[in-house]
Amino acid sequence: MSKNGIGPRPLAAVAALAAALWSGGQARADTVPVMVIHGGAGVIKADMSVERQQIVKAALDRALQAGYTALKAGQPAKDAVVAAIRVLEDDPNFNAGKGAVFTHDRRNEMDAAIMDGATLQAGAVAGVAHVRNPITLARAVMEHSQHVLLIGDGAEAFAVTQKIPLVDSSYFWTQRRWDQLQKALKEDAAHSQHADETTDRHFGTVGAVALDRAGHLAAGTSTGGMTDKLWGRVGDSPLIGAGTYANAGCAMSGTGWGEFYIRTVAAHEICMRVTMMHEALDHAAQDVINHEIPALGGDGGAILVDAQGDIAMPFNTSGMYRAWVGRDGVSHVAIFGDGK
Ligand code: ASP
Repeated sequence: MSKNGIGPRPLAAVAALAAALWSGGQARADTVPVMVIHGGAGVIKADMSVERQQIVKAALDRALQAGYTALKAGQPAKDAVVAAIRVLEDDPNFNAGKGAVFTHDRRNEMDAAIMDGATLQAGAVAGVAHVRNPITLARAVMEHSQHVLLIGDGAEAFAVTQKIPLVDSSYFWTQRRWDQLQKALKEDAAHSQHADETTDRHFGTVGAVALDRAGHLAAGTSTGGMTDKLWGRVGDSPLIGAGTYANAGCAMSGTGWGEFYIRTVAAHEICMRVTMMHEALDHAAQDVINHEIPALGGDGGAILVDAQGDIAMPFNTSGMYRAWVGRDGVSHVAIFGDGK
């Protein structure tokens, strides 16, 4: 009990208060589930062979179905988010888990976060180097610790207590990411640092948002961050409100140049505009992702779903790996702006 006699509120009371405040989130037991995932923004059509497009699309579809199957079975949105993200973390084509990019110091340092819109509980990890599925560790932080964000060695020590397996750092070595780092280092040496920022320093981050049968929302994001990032750099993905956020009425996972998502507190801003100001999801999302962030010099995209099952997938890059099942139950996978 604190000095003023106001003790901590029980979590259930906080959740009820949140649901009352954010009237966008009228949870209904008969809700039609909706699932949206992304595999990162920044992809350029000319850089992708048709064969590679097919490989990536098949991987996105596998992740989408993993999440959507959980939703159809009546599992909570947070289960679907973790199921989808784990598939992408295990796939070397994405900048998360197995396919994480390299830091300037030739390491792989990963960040991840999850948020449960029904309870406003959240968990995140940053700078982990030996965790095969950082999203699972983020969920454990949310559900089995009193904290929201654990970093580096401390996060990995917590993983051990949770029986979440650690892997040798060599697990994360891939030729493609190594070559990307070499290219970035050459650019650094030529003093053209960040000249190629939008094309291959950040893309491939993965994320998921879901609306479950109970009408609850969740969001999650997992990433290796940006190629050539400094040791200890943390992006937007594990920062609740920047790259990841969910409440009773809106859920978002972002991807792009993280520093700009942090500075605009992008996910929180969009979700507050939707739930407090009753702005249309697509309008709020387009405004922040396609106007506010580029006006500051940033780029990227996001996926969002609201409590009505409306979806938004804005991006200001030429492509964003994405897949979704809306209220009509039909699966879609797309990479570029033309919906292909
Ligand atoms: N947003 C991520 C970061 O800045 C990178 C990405 O989305 O590709 O760490």
